[in-house]
Amino acid sequence: MTELETIRHSAAHVLANAILRIWPEAQFAAGPPVDQGFYYDVELPHRISPEDFGKIEKEMAAIIAEAQPFQREVISRDEAITMGTRGELAGLSPRSAQSKFKLDILTRIPEGEEISLYRNGAFTDLCAGPHVADTSKIAAFKLTHVASAFYLGDEKNPQLQRIYGTAFASQEELEKHFALLEEAKKRDHRRIGKDLGLFHIDDAVGQGLILWTPKGAVIRQELQDFISGELSKQGYSQVFTPHIGKIGLYKTSGHFPYYKESQFPAIPEPDQLERIASEGCSCAEMTARLEAVSAPFAATLNERAGREVVTPDRIKDPAQLLDGFMLKPMNCPHHIRIFASEPRSYRDLPVRLAEFGTVYRWEQSGELNGMTRVRGFTQDDAHLFVTEEQVAAEVRGCLELVKKVLTTLGMTDYRVRVGLRDPDSTKFTGNPAQWDLAEKACRDAAASLGVPFTEEPGEAAFYGPKIDFVVKDVLGRDWQLGTVQVDYVLPVRFGLSYTGVDGASHVPVMIHRAPFGSLERFTGVLIEHFAGNFPVWLAPEQARILPVSEKVAGYAESIVAEMKAKGIRATADLSSDKLGAKIRLAQLEKVPYMIVIGPKEEAAGQLSVRSRKNGDEGSVAKDDFIQRIESEIRERALTV
Ligand SMILES: [Zn+2]
Ligand SMILES: [Zn+2]
Repeated sequence: MTELETIRHSAAHVLANAILRIWPEAQFAAGPPVDQGFYYDVELPHRISPEDFGKIEKEMAAIIAEAQPFQREVISRDEAITMGTRGELAGLSPRSAQSKFKLDILTRIPEGEEISLYRNGAFTDLCAGPHVADTSKIAAFKLTHVASAFYLGDEKNPQLQRIYGTAFASQEELEKHFALLEEAKKRDHRRIGKDLGLFHIDDAVGQGLILWTPKGAVIRQELQDFISGELSKQGYSQVFTPHIGKIGLYKTSGHFPYYKESQFPAIPEPDQLERIASEGCSCAEMTARLEAVSAPFAATLNERAGREVVTPDRIKDPAQLLDGFMLKPMNCPHHIRIFASEPRSYRDLPVRLAEFGTVYRWEQSGELNGMTRVRGFTQDDAHLFVTEEQVAAEVRGCLELVKKVLTTLGMTDYRVRVGLRDPDSTKFTGNPAQWDLAEKACRDAAASLGVPFTEEPGEAAFYGPKIDFVVKDVLGRDWQLGTVQVDYVLPVRFGLSYTGVDGASHVPVMIHRAPFGSLERFTGVLIEHFAGNFPVWLAPEQARILPVSEKVAGYAESIVAEMKAKGIRATADLSSDKLGAKIRLAQLEKVPYMIVIGPKEEAAGQLSVRSRKNGDEGSVAKDDFIQRIESEIRERALTV
């Protein structure tokens, strides 16, 4: 347990203690620290509601003020059972009712393991610890909410009340925590996305499927253009591939049927489907036939992989096989087939294929969350096919790209994780010498970035090492964004080759990388990162002209036309509203620049500029302002 977790878990004891002072019949189950604080599960006829929190917190404060030491005591199983039978475990004194959950927990402690009690004041709990020295170390706490939970998470068990709270080592930290929660609520991308009209999720279309509205589409297009520009500088070729592919591709890659839980079901070929339906084939049989492979297919794949990757139980008579398509769960196989579509020599390598490729994954509805957990998303994906010698330089190039993307967006607080294999695990396939080379390449590339990085053994993908960027947002939350993965497995499985300098055939190494990850998730994170205040280059509307009266409507329209001709997204508010109302609306819609014009400005060829960030910036010559905004857009500046 960390120091903070120890404080929070100790607070859970104090919570139970306080509840018993008010409701002596309370029965307690588990009280662990959690992500944002702690909870204790309690069984109590009285339904605890937030109205009770004040009363409970008052008792907790009294216990904390007493600075009761936490005292540990090791006892025998028999002694523990005796105490539990008398209701003393998670109790203040012997009671008529047994400590039933604690007695049950006791039966789950393996024979031979030490059984310990912790006492503070009159309260005794069965617990392994650790705890703070005394209750006064719980410097600041607050109860937050109550939920219901089944004992041990099993709905066949009694339903308990789960009382949540949080605790910190100081009052300032507690206040900061609640201020951040408040800020997170304000920045929630689902709320801002709706208020600003950036995206829509429609039950008629399907949950987890993002509809990019015109304003959101501007942001996405700008992000794509930004990446595309960088890709052409780095020698990538852009490709387009369909949203579906034959099921065999994913049998070859190994993603089907092994990951079918996270994929949309396969789509059988219509005439085959009709035929087997007329034969009375069951759904289970159809699934088995879609998942099966022919003997030659299995033999080829097993031979390429050098081990049995397709087990004999999946082999069926070719006449039994059912062919079909899948909504693509990843873009790799399509790009692999582009690489394989012509003979390649070492002179052609690296081949760098990039695509904004949309993929589909089946997420449980409970897991879906706005733009950040979805069922269909577009990766800023690319696959690099390289020689062994090129791995290091290409990985470095990929990392530079991710760094450029994050820096441009002002996401400067990030760390880099290098996922390596765990030499003791059998999960990692392939040749150890290749692994060593690839890991060295990743480590060196990460070191060359000049940002902090950690090496994490066991965190590699099964087919090769990977590098992740973990970005801390303004609220201090971690987001895993760009990834770069080195892959020795897929090129082998797909039988890829190129002719080397020696004239012999060699297997290329693949690098998968996506600087944003997915455009949906990245945009969701960006909305929260900027709280909807997008920099000018990303803002759906970059400038709004606010004429003070109808007399200057013509001037307003001419400015809009001039800006549009220069590629600036400008509009004019020609409504009859008062200027104050026009400004308020533009601010609410988070437009970076509001341009106020009246007869005086028109006569002088000037504009009165208000920026979202600085408010009134005074009058400037029209041409000067247009030049300024153009340069901010071109440079993707974060000034506004
Ligand atoms: Zn404890
Ligand atoms: Zn890939």
